Amino acid sequence: MELSLTAAELVFREEVRALLRTELKPEIIKLARNTTTSLGNHDAAMAWQAILHKRGWAGIAWPKAFGGPGWTSNQRYIFNSECEKFGAPNLIPLGLKMLAPVIFKYGTKAQQDYYLPKILSAEHYWCQGYSEPGSGSDLASLKTRAKKDGDHYIVNGTKLWTTHAQYANHIFCLVRTKADVKPQAGISFLLIDMATPGVTVEPIYTLAGDHEVNQVFFDNVKVPTANLVGPENEGWNVAKYLLEFERGGSAVATALQVEMATLKLLLRDLPHEHGLKKRAAETDIELLALSQMETDLQAQVAAGKNPGAASSLMKIKASALKQVISGLAMQAIANYSLPHNNRLRLDGRPTIGREADQAITARYLNERASSIFGGAREVQKNIIAKSVLGL
Ligand SMILES: Cc1cc2nc3c(=O)[nH]c(=O)nc-3n(C[C@H](O)[C@H](O)[C@H](O)COP(=O)(O)OP(=O)(O)OC[C@H]3O[C@@H](n4cnc5c(N)ncnc54)[C@H](O)[C@@H]3O)c2cc1C
Repeated sequence: MELSLTAAELVFREEVRALLRTELKPEIIKLARNTTTSLGNHDAAMAWQAILHKRGWAGIAWPKAFGGPGWTSNQRYIFNSECEKFGAPNLIPLGLKMLAPVIFKYGTKAQQDYYLPKILSAEHYWCQGYSEPGSGSDLASLKTRAKKDGDHYIVNGTKLWTTHAQYANHIFCLVRTKADVKPQAGISFLLIDMATPGVTVEPIYTLAGDHEVNQVFFDNVKVPTANLVGPENEGWNVAKYLLEFERGGSAVATALQVEMATLKLLLRDLPHEHGLKKRAAETDIELLALSQMETDLQAQVAAGKNPGAASSLMKIKASALKQVISGLAMQAIANYSLPHNNRLRLDGRPTIGREADQAITARYLNERASSIFGGAREVQKNIIAKSVLGL
């Protein structure tokens, strides 16, 4: 999309470009480009967030009252597309784009004052404790218990597939606080400091060789009742609200446009491309449409509205495009992107082929998960069938 920019927007774009030119160091770009995991590279994201935070630009879709820059949707679009052109990393959405809207809406004043600045500065790095063994799509069946004991809860149980728990110092968790009611009615939303005694994290290595997900265990973990967000036993509404932001609230299109640019470079040099260029062009057009939908959605979010069922549509579209783009890249460069290359690369051992190509199969394998995490594709289709089509 090409916008015709006002004089003030041109000045703003120059400001963004100046920051990117001076602060976004090649090491950060390289780390971001070589990442193979869906969520992005932790170190690159942290370095970039620190730079943006200094400038007051870490939470670009946050309401101004909570520390957002108060930009228009055109400014957010300009910012995202300039970041994409310069190869800036994705910021990690767990705190900034998932938990923060929940705290804006359901947090007490004390919670807003304490947590929000620490999310913006990344002093608090969050992970998401929703899924459990046997409770993924059927999330309301979750079993992790929180029993009240004076001004604390005692938490016991386990969470599965917890992305970036190895980096996180905090986890937002769904816990069962009441058992003798229908499953959705007895759930609460609790914020837990990962340094509390009784919390342990076990790594899970993916098929691609990456360590992105974990299992987290809670063994008699003592959590202050002040860490409850929203009313006790009404955490299901809080949980669903957060999922709307997980599924459609973040700028996935920007990251995909970076992937698409890399794919175009790969395809440009191929002597025999077997129709890959045509498929890439079709995908590029779909990506433009996704980007426009995201810009509209971000404008709604910044105006205080929630994404609603549109987030399920965005989730399906974005994950499908991720899988097509990573699949086309793998077909273009298959010889040099053998899966074990990523393992060798992570271990710092000798690899084959160009460095830029070595992450491609690992990325392809990791992207298989994008139609599962955040709510599986079939489950999103059920939501659309019910709340959009009224079926
Ligand atoms: C890489 C990755 C990262 C993740 N990160 C996190 C995280 O940080 N925090 C967190 O809490 N969770 C995380 N998850 C978990 C994720 O949310 C769940 O895997 C997902 O909700 C699916 O649940 P499940 O794995 O139990 O599969 P199941 O629910 O057992 O589903 C298996 C299959 O059955 C289908 N299915 C299930 N129910 C229905 C239905 N009603 N109608 C039609 N089809 C159905 C599903 O679509 C799927 O294809 C992550 C998962 C992955 C793979």
